[in-house]
Amino acid sequence: MAPELSPLQPESRSSVSSESKRTDFITWEEYFMSVALLASQRSKDPVTQVGAAIVRDQVVVGMGYNGMPRGCLDDDMPWGKTSENPLENKYLYVCHAEMNAILNKNAESIRGATIYCTLFPCCSCAKYIIQAGISEVVYLNDKPNNNEMIASKMMFEKTNVKFRQFVATKRKVIINFDNFSVDISSPSSARSSSSSDAEIL
Ligand SMILES: [Zn+2]
Repeated sequence: MAPELSPLQPESRSSVSSESKRTDFITWEEYFMSVALLASQRSKDPVTQVGAAIVRDQVVVGMGYNGMPRGCLDDDMPWGKTSENPLENKYLYVCHAEMNAILNKNAESIRGATIYCTLFPCCSCAKYIIQAGISEVVYLNDKPNNNEMIASKMMFEKTNVKFRQFVATKRKVIINFDNFSVDISSPSSARSSSSSDAEIL
């Protein structure tokens, strides 16, 4: 027999009275990283989709994903990375998510802001982040042995830009346009788990 659930138990949406506050809402951290992940889904890159969201005073003031510069049509540009001719690879052309988020910001200043990134920023984006005055980087994935990211960390440490990995919650946020629903699933053991295999979106 299933155990009875108290009215405010977070894992039981059906047990919460419609007269009281919802308890299964996503956290700020989950919200902002979900925004970054959602932005990444605009990317046309066949291998790496990266998203970024800049947050200031709990408000998203910039979003971006990795893509070609404005006016360089996606269909005309190379998306591969294996050609012997560098001009036929994507690297010389793609604008990274963090750079796009910074350049597309809709606030006058993003000094002191936090940037949520689905991948640790490369050294070029790190320089944009530092020069824009962003004070904190929250990242989902990392490539700890990548020289560009090692350089980013070195520069962040010298300039007092804090960086930390997104704390995994093992929750899922599923957006389903078929029936216009948002499903937030919270495994009963998730809240106390320290596992890092989080899956959001
Ligand atoms: Zn970058």
